[in-house]
Amino acid sequence: MSLIGKGILKGMGVTAKNFFQSYYRKERLPTVEYPEEKATINQFSRNFPFLLYDGDDPVDGMRCTACTLCERACPPQCIYIIKDKDENGKAILSPRIFDIDTSVCMSCQLCVEVCPYEAIRMDSAFELSNENRFEGLLLNREELLKPNAYYHEIHPLEARETDDRMAAKAALAEAKKKARQKRARLAAKNKPPPGLKKTPPTRKKPPQREKSE
Ligand code: SF4
Ligand code: SF4
Repeated sequence: MSLIGKGILKGMGVTAKNFFQSYYRKERLPTVEYPEEKATINQFSRNFPFLLYDGDDPVDGMRCTACTLCERACPPQCIYIIKDKDENGKAILSPRIFDIDTSVCMSCQLCVEVCPYEAIRMDSAFELSNENRFEGLLLNREELLKPNAYYHEIHPLEARETDDRMAAKAALAEAKKKARQKRARLAAKNKPPPGLKKTPPTRKKPPQREKSE
């Protein structure tokens, strides 16, 4: 038998093996009886963004600082943010309104890439169909906020890496704060007592050059 004939037979053997195994081997059965049965979602799958919060209170623990970087980076402009204000009317680092129109979102993940505060991530929930676009697909801040535990559940590897990065950043910020405090303490120690004028250091006059005649 020629080399080509052997290759064709080998290929057909592999196809036949896969075909028959697809009837009894679980890992070769890609179709599930949805909705009674649900497929396991791969941890790297993504569809639409959600906002992360730490602790128990979604609003108090919100990581988002309303910096609007994601809003400006979003290609189809489906993110809408309004900053919150304090009692004096001054803008604070938190969004009062944070909406995402998921019917426009193209799942590009650019919002996640630009966020400096690890505050926005891609979800993998897929049962989102709804009859009313404004109720089901235009998500507001409360609907978008999900705890860090949920992030660990859907994207465990990515969530662990994010936690490590945040812990390293916090440790660096703490070290810088301590160094600043130490410098301030040293400066206060070396400060002359009040009333005592600090005399400026005297400068030595440079030697005069003799003029040549
Ligand atoms: S995934 Fe892309 S399209 Fe969707 S909200 Fe983020 S930046 Fe916009
Ligand atoms: S999600 Fe991130 S990038 Fe978007 S406004 Fe909040 S902190 Fe800024």
